[in-house]
Parts: sequence; C-alpha cells; structure tokens
Amino acid sequence: MSLRFILRRNFECVLKSNFFVYYYRYFHKVIGRMKYVKLSQTDDLMPTLGLGTWQASSEVIESTVYKALDLGYRHIDTAFNYNNEEAIGNAVKKWIDDGKGTRKDLFITTKLPHVGNRASDVKKFLDLQLKRLQMDYVDLYLIHVPFGFLCDPETLTPVINSNGDYALDMETDHISTWKVMECCQKEGLTRNLGLSNFNEAQIGKIIASSTMKPQVLQVELHAYFQQMDLRKFCSDHDIVVTAYAPLGSPGAKDHFVNKYHYSPDAFPDLLGHPEVNDIAKSHGKTPAQILLRYLVQQNVVVIPKSTSEKRLKENSNIYDFGLTPSEINRLKKLDQGENGRIFNFLFWKGVENHPEYPYKFLTLAADKK
Ligand code: NAP
Repeated sequence: MSLRFILRRNFECVLKSNFFVYYYRYFHKVIGRMKYVKLSQTDDLMPTLGLGTWQASSEVIESTVYKALDLGYRHIDTAFNYNNEEAIGNAVKKWIDDGKGTRKDLFITTKLPHVGNRASDVKKFLDLQLKRLQMDYVDLYLIHVPFGFLCDPETLTPVINSNGDYALDMETDHISTWKVMECCQKEGLTRNLGLSNFNEAQIGKIIASSTMKPQVLQVELHAYFQQMDLRKFCSDHDIVVTAYAPLGSPGAKDHFVNKYHYSPDAFPDLLGHPEVNDIAKSHGKTPAQILLRYLVQQNVVVIPKSTSEKRLKENSNIYDFGLTPSEINRLKKLDQGENGRIFNFLFWKGVENHPEYPYKFLTLAADKK
C-alpha cells in the first residue's frame, strides 16, 4: 500500500466523519428548534407537541398523563370544562414526587370557561383551577370561547332557559376580561396569556387595547380546515397557533351524534384519506403521524388526544422525518375552508344569538351532507 493511498484514505475518513458530525449537529439543531416555539413576550418555550385531554375521564386521564410524561410529553392541554384538572394535577404531582422531573420542565395549559367569561370571574376561576391542578401557576391561560353564558353558582355550569336555550350573558366584554387576565399574569398565576376560538376581529380588538398581547391562539385546525388567513394574521402579530382536533377529532363523532344528534356524515375521516395514507406509506409512518407532522413542520403546535399508550407513542414520533415540498402541497389541497369546520358550538342551543358568537357561517353540522 503506497503512502499516498494511506494518506488519501485518512483524508477521506476525516472528511466523511466531519460530514456526518456536521449533519448530525445540523439535524439536532433543526429538530431541537422544531420541538419548541418561542412565545413572543416572555421568551418561554412551548413544546410543539402537547397532550389533548378532552373526553378523557378523570379515572383514565390520571394514568394517561403519567404515561405520557414518561414517554417524553412535556405539554398538557386541559380546561375547566373537561372536568379532569384534578386528575391531571395528581398525575403531575406524582411524576414530580417520583423524581422524574420538575414543574419547570412542563408546560401546562388550561382555560377560562364560558360560564366565567367576565372580568369579575377570571380570578375566581383561575384560583379554583390552580387548586384543582395543585399548582402555583399555569404556563398558559386561555379564554376558552369568545361568548359567555350565565353561570349556575351551585354547579358552575351554564343556566339553561325553559325552551332549552343556553342563557346568554349579553354583557360579555373582552377588554375588561383581558385586563384581569393581565393582572393574573402580573401576579404570576399564569406565565402566558392567550385566546381560543376567537376570530380575527375579536383578537385585533384585544391587541389594540392590551399591554400584554395574546401570545397563543388555540383553534380547530387540521388538513380539512387549514385556516390559512387566520394563521397569517397570527404570524403577523407574533401569535403562536395551536391546532386542536389535529387528527380531525375522530372521537367527536360519537359524542356529537349521540349527545346532539348530529349527522355522522358531518365528520371527516382524515385518518382514512387516500392521499394521507399514500404519503404515510412512502415514509413508513402512520396517517396520524403525517397529519401531525404536516402542522408541526409549519410551526403549528399540535395537541392530539389519546389515552392509548401505543397511540401516545405513535403521536410523539414525528420529529425523525420530514415532508417534502410536494407532499406539503398535496396536503394543502385537502383544505375545504369553512366546510371543513367541525366545532361551530351550535350544539349549545341559542349560542349563535350571542353578540360575540365568532362565526358567520352557520350551517348546522347536523344538516351537513
Ligand atoms: P384529536 O386529537 O384530533 O383526535 C383525538 C381522537 O383521535 C381520540 O378519539 C383518539 O382516540 C383518536 N386518536 C388519537 N391518536 C390516534 C392515532 N394515532 N390513530 C388513530 N386515532 C387516534 O381531537 P380532539 O381531542 O378533539 O382535539 C385535541 C385536543 O384539543 C383535545 O383533547 C383538547 O385538549 C383540545 N380541544 C380544544 C378545544 C377548544 O375549544 N379550545 C376544542 C376541542 C379540543 P384514543 O384516545 O382512543 O387514542
């Protein structure tokens, strides 16, 4: 073997190893960046994957949250209305007491309910929710919906009129409610503030009158309902968008059909869509992973709900591959605009008569064919 040959081989090895080190570092930097988004006013890092907890009973969610934390989830999404804050608090407390991490490692979101959507109730509900969660603060407190209902003080549920309509609070005033939200943040009860299910005009009004802008907007968002205009508006105002129902909320179907008599045809089968399945096959991934990856790759936070350990794992395994620009374009074409919306809240009878009902498009899902 000539000296020249040996030198050349060594040189190639150095080149190759540097090449791999370079790509390894680059890959991790990019992936690391994709796992979090930075919130505009606090610089807090919000994990782009969270665990959704709607329709998860207290008994089930306690072990689910513990399992999810063990699997690496660091972001949990709940709400007063999901009736599971206490169980989530138990799971988090146990996980921390077991020495597996600290409160600072976690990002916990909860929401001010429709029955508490007024300045005089914000602090009362947040205090109660913190007590249930057994926490001194949450990372993000959202106003759950822009409209408000009158509250039965005994049950903390909406008052229902004799005709079955929900009793609307016609005095809902976002500006005064937001001012108290800001005070709660100053007091350290929540690190960040945001909105859910608000439209562009409603968000704009709050931005114009606030000292602390909303940092996050949580809305329905999935391949059939991509909300491009609202996302552009949020991006222009440094508002992070969180997608709820990122898989098309397959679990909502039974709930809405049984409880509110919606037509089963009103619900999309995104996971069964041929285009999604075709892309999934080419990556050796599942349709759920493609739908989640599609959003995360566009800097949208996703909060898929699952109580199955297998699916928890599956849904978190979305950072080791990427969709190509042509795949992104194929998925973009699935957007159905307003026809793709599942959650219009018309199941709360009479809600469309509230002055802050956020949607103009009023096709009842029950009428959708
Ligand atoms: P989703 O996350 O799109 O879908 C959850 C459903 O999909 C569950 O039935 C789950 O069943 C199933 N699932 C999960 N992973 C799966 C997988 N890999 N393959 C097949 N099926 C899978 O819908 P969502 O729960 O309606 O929305 C997510 C979260 O957003 C909620 O849980 C809640 O935290 C939040 N949310 C917020 C609002 C709001 O007004 N702000 C409204 C709705 C939802 P299993 O549990 O059996 O796996």
